[in-house]
Amino acid sequence: MSIRFSLINSILNKEEQKSVTSPKATAIFGENVFTLKTAREYLSDDMYKSLCGSIKSGKKIDRNAANQIAIGLKAWAESKGVTHYTHWFQPLTGTTAEKHDSFFTLKSDGTPIEEFDGATLVQQEPDASSFPNGGLRTTFEARGYTAWDPSSPAFIMEIGGSNTLCIPTIFISYTGESLDYKAPLLKALDALNKSAVDVCNYFDKNITRVTATLGWEQEYFIIDEGLANARPDIIQCGRTVFGASPAKGQQLEDHYFGSIPERVLAFMKDFEVEAYKLGIPLRTRHNEVAPGQFECAPIFEEVSIAVDHNTLLMDVMERVSYRHNLRVLLHEKPFAGINGSGKHNNWSMSTDTGINLLAPGKTPKTNLMFLTFFINAIKAVHDYADLLRAAIANAGNEHRLGASEAPPAIVSVFIGEYLNKVLDEIEARVGEKFDEQDEAILKLDIHKSIPELLLDNTDRNRTSPFAFTGNKFEFRAVGASATCANAMTVLNTIMAETLANFKVDVDKFIEKGEKKEIAIMQTLQKYITESKKILFDGDGYSEAWHHEAERRGLTNIPTAPLALDAMVDKKTLHLFKKNNVFTHSELEARHEIELEKYIKKIQIEARVMGDLALNHIIPAAINYQNKLLTNINGLKTLGFKEADYAGQLAILKDVSKHLQFIYEQTNALVEARKIVNKIEDTRTKAIAYCSQVKETYFNKLRYHVDKLERLVNDDDWTLPKYRELLFLK
Ligand code: ADP
Ligand code: MG
Repeated sequence: MSIRFSLINSILNKEEQKSVTSPKATAIFGENVFTLKTAREYLSDDMYKSLCGSIKSGKKIDRNAANQIAIGLKAWAESKGVTHYTHWFQPLTGTTAEKHDSFFTLKSDGTPIEEFDGATLVQQEPDASSFPNGGLRTTFEARGYTAWDPSSPAFIMEIGGSNTLCIPTIFISYTGESLDYKAPLLKALDALNKSAVDVCNYFDKNITRVTATLGWEQEYFIIDEGLANARPDIIQCGRTVFGASPAKGQQLEDHYFGSIPERVLAFMKDFEVEAYKLGIPLRTRHNEVAPGQFECAPIFEEVSIAVDHNTLLMDVMERVSYRHNLRVLLHEKPFAGINGSGKHNNWSMSTDTGINLLAPGKTPKTNLMFLTFFINAIKAVHDYADLLRAAIANAGNEHRLGASEAPPAIVSVFIGEYLNKVLDEIEARVGEKFDEQDEAILKLDIHKSIPELLLDNTDRNRTSPFAFTGNKFEFRAVGASATCANAMTVLNTIMAETLANFKVDVDKFIEKGEKKEIAIMQTLQKYITESKKILFDGDGYSEAWHHEAERRGLTNIPTAPLALDAMVDKKTLHLFKKNNVFTHSELEARHEIELEKYIKKIQIEARVMGDLALNHIIPAAINYQNKLLTNINGLKTLGFKEADYAGQLAILKDVSKHLQFIYEQTNALVEARKIVNKIEDTRTKAIAYCSQVKETYFNKLRYHVDKLERLVNDDDWTLPKYRELLFLK
């Protein structure tokens, strides 16, 4: 029996999953996190205060305090069976990195002790030379260090019975450049805090801090591990490069919110338990549209914590899936012909006085504050649409964006009918002189219309990449495998920049003697006029929108290498420098790294395609050809006429035709790669990989392979088919 059939067999004969009852979420929530509550138990008053101060204001913790905190941390960790610790960070590979060290050490006289001091807590020097750095660290100085980030609490990771204390850190080079996703994100949030507080103070002097909030929705596929292992493309690329659509795909849409298969549910319950222990507040789980596709989402948190939690959860999901002999696929497009996976980023801002700045208020004054932040967000997206597009560009998302199930590569903003009317009304009054008594405009009675507003939004537009959903924006174009950090760094920086400029503009009016509210209204009017072309409520999947967007002058860059250009254009360099998020060299390095990642991904996919074609597809076709030949020859010897085996002959010819084509194209693909590999300049090379390798060969090759899959005897086909990958659990 071929491996494919024995795998199918073992799924069918697998042991019944025993349903385990999970502990109550509240009983275990955060038990593996060094929360402030835990810190209170393990630290002296002074040390506790010092830690809190550092979390709140980013104040540096001195050596002595660090030592004391390290002692407390170690005591807590040891009480939970921890033997090792690691600095946990988010390098530019897009995954997480850890290097475990033991508390165990030897003193100079050889006495064994368990040790963890302040210096080890605060700083580590991982052997960093193999992390991507885009040329920031030359090879002879391939050193970087990880530095403790007290704003994200330490946690304990339980892996295979071994417990490790993880210290969240940022990763920087010796010359001070960021080498990770976390450090720039923290800087962006800092910039936002400053300019948002300034603008808030027009309305409320009590506001002293603004944090951005993020609630992500993680989509993923789950397949049987055995079947996955029999697909080299899934193992090496995270997606299938070949595979004919099954007779039943997602056309019946019977999977969406359907009942979750038992085996998958057991997996979900299991990773939820791990997540709760780590303080990840998961709330929702359900089936997604495509067969085999699911989603989970937490309650929103402060952006930096939410980003950590998402990164951590992706890791946890992967590890827990092995316990269930399942494999989780986070790729943006694991299967052609059915939906891909995204990671919606629900984003808002909130004040230390407890106000959600993107929620319509209850009084005219708070409504004006809402409108201010709402309109500034639209303006930010309008002004930096290309940069937002760049933030979500990668090889995986290239398959998904615009694939008639995911938002198009054109950035636009959905705000719904009611708010469109409100903006029109404000704009229509351009040139009119407002005075303070102008009730109509200041009293834009949004609160009374909240039901209408929500109605508008429950029916909200699923085709928009950036949609207002009642009290937050939902950035829907982020890919499922990506860290949210990139998107969040960009979004919060452009918001910071827009708000800072807004303050300058408003102050100009005020200096001219305008009343504050009037100055704000005038500026908002101007912003609406300047940015309304980004607003679009129609069907983002439609052909008509592509034409309309072009007419409006909105950019539409379908491929990743070109979309990434916006990372390093003049406007972007200025933006990030001004807001102290990235220096020019950091941005250029990151751009280089993204391009390199793209090149490598396409290169690997191309190789895997070649391997599969030569080692799986063509041999399967030959086996089937031989069967047909034996059959035809046998019939011939018995005196059958050609008309009697015309069907066999036709199939044989068809199989041969596709086989020849696959052989030729596979060779041509290898040649194309050789040429492209000689290109020195990274950007040119990435563009060439996209057009001369991927676009020229991938779909063509796939077409013929998928045709063969439909023609060839099922017994001879070695690769698990879509219907098995998607439906067998
Ligand atoms: P859906 O998008 O499925 O309708 P919800 O609107 O309830 O679901 O929320 C989706 C996500 O948005 C959740 O993770 C939720 O916590 C998050 N969310 C809700 N309010 C905010 C907010 N103010 N800031 C950021 N995220 C939020
Ligand atoms: Mg949503």
